[in-house]
Amino acid sequence: MPLEQSEAIVLRSFIVGEQDKIVVLFSRDKGIIRGVAKGARKFGSRFGSSLEPLSLVKVFYYEKERKDLVTVSNCDLVESFFEIQNDLQTSFTLSYFAELIEEFSPIRAKDDTLYRLLISILNSLKGGGDLNFLTRYFEAWLLKIEGVLPELNKCKKCRKILTDSCWLSPKKDGVFCNHCASQKKEEIKPELGSFVQWIKKNTPPKKGPLPFSTLELENIKKILQDIIIFHLEKKPKTLRYLK
Ligand SMILES: [Zn+2]
Repeated sequence: MPLEQSEAIVLRSFIVGEQDKIVVLFSRDKGIIRGVAKGARKFGSRFGSSLEPLSLVKVFYYEKERKDLVTVSNCDLVESFFEIQNDLQTSFTLSYFAELIEEFSPIRAKDDTLYRLLISILNSLKGGGDLNFLTRYFEAWLLKIEGVLPELNKCKKCRKILTDSCWLSPKKDGVFCNHCASQKKEEIKPELGSFVQWIKKNTPPKKGPLPFSTLELENIKKILQDIIIFHLEKKPKTLRYLK
């Protein structure tokens, strides 16, 4: 059993038995890893605070044949994001990100773009970035990385370039122009297309004025979350705590 190591973000951890913890990690090299940290609940355990949610760690672990859980032997804290989690809404939002990653990203599949997205969002939040804006940034990129963000600038049927409002297809895999839409249930305002173009060209912003208004961000949020819920076939548990 060789000792493996990877840089990882702790998505969540929970108590199991008297002294152990199960930890769900999002690793740079292998995507989601679930492991058991023996003795993690003991006073003065070698894990310290490294298993707290959203810690950036260097994890050392053993794989066991035919076992779903790895054995975490050590976990060194590289960077903590504890201080931004003192704000309750930020803390809830980070649990929402963690839930989405765990739901969308398959077990043991490297997802380097998503990993780098999470790290850069955490750094922007640490630098004073706007929580609402960065949440939309995360949602839109997550959908794009997972290949389920619909093409927004062209009508799915007639391929006309869209400049005005259009309509989300029932399967959320494209948009229809006014002429082609058979169901006009979910209107897509032009700001969603502009937002997607913007995030492709810009890194997550820290301080400073935002390029989209609160009302525009509210419209963007509704559509992005509808697409997320459609693909998960359920509402993320953590979403109800978000404003
Ligand atoms: Zn059309």
